[in-house]
Amino acid sequence: MNEIMELKTELKKLAEDASLALKEAKGREGLENLRIAYLGRKGALTRILGKMKNLSLEEKKTVGKQANELKKQLGESFKEKLLQCKEKKVTEKIDITLPGIKPKLGHLHPITLISNEMKEIFKGLGFDFVTGPEIENEYYNFEALNFPEEHPARDSFDSFYLAPNILLRSHTSPVQIRTMEKRKPPLRIITTGRCFRRDAIDASHFPAFHQMEGLMVGERISFSHLKGVLTYFLRKIFEPDIEVRFSPSYFPFTEPSAEVSISCPFCSGTGCGSCGHSGWIEILGAGMVNPDVFKKVNYDPEKFTGFAFGMGIERIAMLKYKISDIRDFWENDLRFLEQF
Ligand SMILES: [Zn+2]
Repeated sequence: MNEIMELKTELKKLAEDASLALKEAKGREGLENLRIAYLGRKGALTRILGKMKNLSLEEKKTVGKQANELKKQLGESFKEKLLQCKEKKVTEKIDITLPGIKPKLGHLHPITLISNEMKEIFKGLGFDFVTGPEIENEYYNFEALNFPEEHPARDSFDSFYLAPNILLRSHTSPVQIRTMEKRKPPLRIITTGRCFRRDAIDASHFPAFHQMEGLMVGERISFSHLKGVLTYFLRKIFEPDIEVRFSPSYFPFTEPSAEVSISCPFCSGTGCGSCGHSGWIEILGAGMVNPDVFKKVNYDPEKFTGFAFGMGIERIAMLKYKISDIRDFWENDLRFLEQF
C-alpha cells in the first residue's frame, strides 16, 4: 500500500515540476529538451512507471490511469506552448502596426529634367526639336560653321579625334548645318545633346557635357528677335526679374556675336564670390548667323537672316539648382541624385 502512495505522490510532483518548468521554458529548442526530459523514452515519467512492477494488478490499473492522464495533459501543454512560441516568433518579425517601407522609384537625371524644362520653353515659342549625330566629320563640326583651318578648336589637343577627319562633336552646332541642308527657311529649331572636349576635369569642366543650341532663320529676322527670345527664355528658366546683358563677342559662325550674361542669382547683382564680384554671370553665346554659313547650305544671305545661340546645360542646371561642382552630374552618387 505504501508503494502505491509513493508512486502517486511522485506522479503528482512530476506534474507540478513539469508545469513550472513549462512556464519558464524559452524557445522551441528549450521546449523540446523539456519534453524529452519528462515524456521521452528515458524520461521522468518512464522512470516512475518502471517502479510499478511490484504493484498488484488493481493498483497497476489505478496508477496507470493516473500516469496516462498526466502524459496526455503534459503532451497537450507542450503543444500549446510550442504554438505560442511560433506565434510569438511571427509577430516579432512582422509588426503590422509599423508604417510600410516605401519602394524606391527611379526618376529622371537632373540634366534630363532641366533639358526638358528648357525644351518646353522654346516649344512654347514655336521652336521644333531636332537631333544630330555625336560622331561628326570636320566639315559639319568646323568647316561649314566657318572655323578657319588654323582655328585652335580644330586642334586634336582640343577635340577627340577617332580617325583623321572623324571626331566626337565638340558642340551641338553641326545640327544647325544638317537641319538647314534638309529644310528651307523659315525655320525655328532647338537641339540638345552631348558634346566632347579634351578638358582637364575640375569643378567646372568635364570632357563630356551637354549643350542646347537654337537657330531661327527667316526674312527680316533681326538682333531684336534674338534679344527678345533669349531674354524671355532666361527669365522663364531663372527668375522673372533677372537682368539680361548682351555684350560684344566673337564666334566664327555668327556676325555680330554676343556674350549673354544674367544678373548673378546668388547675390542679385550686388557682387559675390560666385560672380567674381561683378554682379553678372556669363551664361551663353549667341549672334546673327554669318552669311558665309548660309552660303554653305544654299540659303540666300541677301534674302534671309537669322540668329543662333548655344549654352551649356550643366551650367544652367548648376546656377538654377545651386550646384558648385560639375562632377556631381557624372558620379551617380544617389545622395546627390535623390534630391531631384
Ligand atoms: Zn554674385
